[in-house]
Amino acid sequence: MRSQIHLFSASELSRLLRERKISSEELTRAFIERTEQTEERIQAFISYDAEYTLTQARLSDRRRSEGKIHGPLDGIPVSIKDIIAEKDQPLTCGSRFMEQFCSPYDATVIQKLRGQGAVLWGRLNLDEFAMGSSTEHSAFHVTHNPWNPDCVPGGSSGGCAAAAAARQTPLALGSDTGGSIRQPAALCGVCGLKPTYGRVSRYGLSAFASSLDQIGPIGRTVEDIALLLQAIAGHDEYDSTSLREEVPDYLLALREKCSPKRIGIPREYFAEGLDAEVRDSIESAIEFYRSQGHEIIELSLPHMDYAIPVYYVVATAEAASNLARFDGIRYTHRSAHHDAIDIYFRSRSEGFGPEVKRRIMLGTYVLSSGYYDAQYLRAQKVRTLIRQDFLEAFKSVDFLLTPTSPTTAFKMGDRSANPLAMYLSDIYTVSANLAGIPAISIPCGFSTKNLPIGLQILGPLFSEGKLLQMAYAFESEHDFSSREAPL
Ligand code: GLN
Repeated sequence: MRSQIHLFSASELSRLLRERKISSEELTRAFIERTEQTEERIQAFISYDAEYTLTQARLSDRRRSEGKIHGPLDGIPVSIKDIIAEKDQPLTCGSRFMEQFCSPYDATVIQKLRGQGAVLWGRLNLDEFAMGSSTEHSAFHVTHNPWNPDCVPGGSSGGCAAAAAARQTPLALGSDTGGSIRQPAALCGVCGLKPTYGRVSRYGLSAFASSLDQIGPIGRTVEDIALLLQAIAGHDEYDSTSLREEVPDYLLALREKCSPKRIGIPREYFAEGLDAEVRDSIESAIEFYRSQGHEIIELSLPHMDYAIPVYYVVATAEAASNLARFDGIRYTHRSAHHDAIDIYFRSRSEGFGPEVKRRIMLGTYVLSSGYYDAQYLRAQKVRTLIRQDFLEAFKSVDFLLTPTSPTTAFKMGDRSANPLAMYLSDIYTVSANLAGIPAISIPCGFSTKNLPIGLQILGPLFSEGKLLQMAYAFESEHDFSSREAPL
């Protein structure tokens, strides 16, 4: 068993710990070793400190020997997207601007994980400030897809998905503003969930677009992401947008039998641009649910065509505002110029990469006087229409079932020179963020080139438990989540 520890899911590892068949130090070491063996080919991490991680594992073992463990995550490694603040650890946000920055405090999700005994394991690669769909916009290095190293892992949480798929970590925390958890999860053959807006505290997540950002779990099985969601969900007085809604028992929800549901298939998600193999896999998944006694209903979300344009107005406007604080004065990169205006100007020119600059320019443009009404205000109105499309749909169906991404993982370099092609990677994911609703992506097939395909299930506000249950029903009858990437 010892040489195979990295192949176990977080839930299995938690059971082995409980039965005293393994120690946290042993299993944490296994993931560190696995990473050392594979990282040259994957490059999922921006940084890690093995000693700091092992110290936490030993503390967990001590708690266990004293009968004082803090729950199912105690002793289990969780890796963190390098945009979520972890005290005294580097926080680069994938940006040169933050290259030298160490966080002076913990994000609320990190504090929660520490409180539950999780072992924080490394800082994962991402597109700069989470802006991108391939992790190619990281200022440091690209990350390779474990299923094919010539392909991207998706983004912006590409490091999270690649590390989970390469079994370098059992669990990872990512962030999703327009698809950044679900799309890389789909492209790497793992599970990812974007919670309802306000379900998880954003305190300590470097803001990209504050009205869209959510932190969420990535892992190899549905049960694992339920475990991690359980640990991080809930109201937080440090985030005024986090909601007071009670957190249900997500693991209990998994074990309940799924009663017959009405599943909506939105026509707009199956139009032009959808890869034929992806379509086939999604159609098989639809047939599976039908065979399980669920009712399948075709319907329309009439404003979906506007999702990408609306997203790129709202997200860039918020990004331009949020990134204004990076001025080279208070912290992070400072240019070696003396005049104050020069410092602002040069620090920002030197610190931000091209994609971030593009977003700041777009956002500044849509917010500028004379354009605000025509661009930003109008986008907000269409955002409301998109949200209403979902509200309307959820009057007649319980869930919506769609592809997560229109294609499987694409080749490195294929879309990096063409921002529009890159932006279209998120055509099926951005609308959940615009509407604030939760959505999950799980593996549902493989292409002829052996690249994973992801199924997206969307539900009404706070339906995470039911989404996990539906996903679990699929996972239990298929082996897609347990296949190993050819590393
Ligand atoms: N790919 C989308 C973008 O670049 C979404 C990113 C995200 O969810 N953080 O904006």
